[in-house]
Amino acid sequence: MAARPLGDPVVRRCTALAVTWLAGYVLLILLTRDAPAANLFVGDILYVVPIVASVVVAVIAVRRLTGRHRVFWLLLAVAYTAQLVGECIWAGYDYLSENGPPEPSVADLGYTVASVTTLCAVLVGFGGASGLRQLRGLADTAIIVLGVGAAAWHLLVQPQVPASLSPGDLVSLTYPVLDTALLCCLLIIGLGGHSGVPVSVRLIGLAGAVNAVSDMSYTFMSITTGYESGGLIDAGFEAASVCSFIAAVVAVRVPEPPAAPRTFDRGLTLTPVLLSSVVVFTLLATQKARTGDVDTTTLAISGVLFLAVLLRQYLFTTDRAALAEQLRAAVAEQHRLAVTDSLTGLHNRRFVNERLADRDTVRPDPAGVLVIDLDHFKRINDTYGHLTGDIVLRAAAARISAVSRAGDLVARWGGEEFVVLLPRTGDADAADIAERIRQEIARTPVDLTGATLTITASIGVATGPHADGDLLVDRADQALYDAKRAGRNRVVVWGATPPLPPATDVQRVGDTSGRSRR
Ligand code: GH3
Ligand code: MG
Ligand code: MG
Repeated sequence: MAARPLGDPVVRRCTALAVTWLAGYVLLILLTRDAPAANLFVGDILYVVPIVASVVVAVIAVRRLTGRHRVFWLLLAVAYTAQLVGECIWAGYDYLSENGPPEPSVADLGYTVASVTTLCAVLVGFGGASGLRQLRGLADTAIIVLGVGAAAWHLLVQPQVPASLSPGDLVSLTYPVLDTALLCCLLIIGLGGHSGVPVSVRLIGLAGAVNAVSDMSYTFMSITTGYESGGLIDAGFEAASVCSFIAAVVAVRVPEPPAAPRTFDRGLTLTPVLLSSVVVFTLLATQKARTGDVDTTTLAISGVLFLAVLLRQYLFTTDRAALAEQLRAAVAEQHRLAVTDSLTGLHNRRFVNERLADRDTVRPDPAGVLVIDLDHFKRINDTYGHLTGDIVLRAAAARISAVSRAGDLVARWGGEEFVVLLPRTGDADAADIAERIRQEIARTPVDLTGATLTITASIGVATGPHADGDLLVDRADQALYDAKRAGRNRVVVWGATPPLPPATDVQRVGDTSGRSRR
């Protein structure tokens, strides 16, 4: 059952605290708009409080958790620390330098490390899917990031930005790209390939989404009018940090199993991948139609996209082939279990009936049928118990199989009865095999720990055309009835003349049709 994080009092209290903090923070931003010193304090100092809290709780999570969850939170702890370092450097510039931080600054290094490490954390957190599926998730991510990125650049960003971009602008552009990659990974590897994604991981996804929107606004502002701390964009970053903090608290307080990979992929990512490809190729066509040429960047994006689509298709086909093979093996195993007797490991009655009903396979005539029934088996159960009865049944099955020829079909018909189908076997050979089985069963006593038990069996035999399989079983059963009546521990062939001498224990009787033990 899915864990309910809000059922935990600590999660409840921390969430309430975090939400209140966020509301207070937004209020302070609005109230200090006209007071630069106070606004700087809110934008640079109060701003880092939830980041510090996230680092602390993430470290606690690392200490408490194990396995994949631990690695996930270790990477996030590194990411939050890198972000904290970046923020402190930024705040330092804001307070000490008149012109604020240069662009790019060392702080950007911290932010970039944080983004890349979070991306790695997500990949690790969702691990467990096959390598092939993870690779396909990455190919899908690349395709979608390229599509979304190219469209956003051409339609939204490029028309607004100056002709040449400064190094700072280029650095700030990497944030939305990394964010989009993170979100796509979460969507594709996470939702597409797993079920039961932990709440803490979903919250990290939410934090990533909020952060992405803020980063996009930040980049847009940096490239166009310039960015200043202490605005509403900071509130977006703050909301992302608050989300990360709650995620860490949930991870510590509500241990959840790792996301289980789905066995059968529903191909959820196909539509976004198709859309993304269409977007890029439409851009290409529009550019060509408008300017008569295509710029190198768009051309390079299309090339990479084309290769990524090819890779995706290859991985998709390989994955499907592997799934089809798994399915085929599972169906074969199901059928094997359905036609196998679990006690003796022999085929069961259903299998014999399938064989008798099979009119498509041509089998050489005549066919022989033996119906074997252990004598006075009920007494064994009554005297020694059912478990001993089972041991005897397994021993009898092993003895019948040992004497049968390759190609004979030995099956447990039910209870203490067995059936053997003998291809290309006439009366004499069938009676011979039946007699060998009878002797094999009677010759050596069954070894029960501490005691031995001699058992015997009566066997009815019938032969005839394969096509009359059901009738042959019926006749062998009638012959078995005669063997029981004649004193048990003997073989009787249905309808055979002349009768065999009684001394051999093999007796032949005439047609006993109409009589059956059933
Ligand atoms: P007969 O010589 O006339 O064949 O007598 P019998 O006692 O062998 O035959 P009967 O049909 O009276 O009893 C068969 C017994 O086999 C009854 C049933 O409880 C037992 N039996 C059926 N299936 C199993 C099983 O899987 N395990 C065990 N231990 N006993 C079973
Ligand atoms: Mg019986
Ligand atoms: Mg019996």
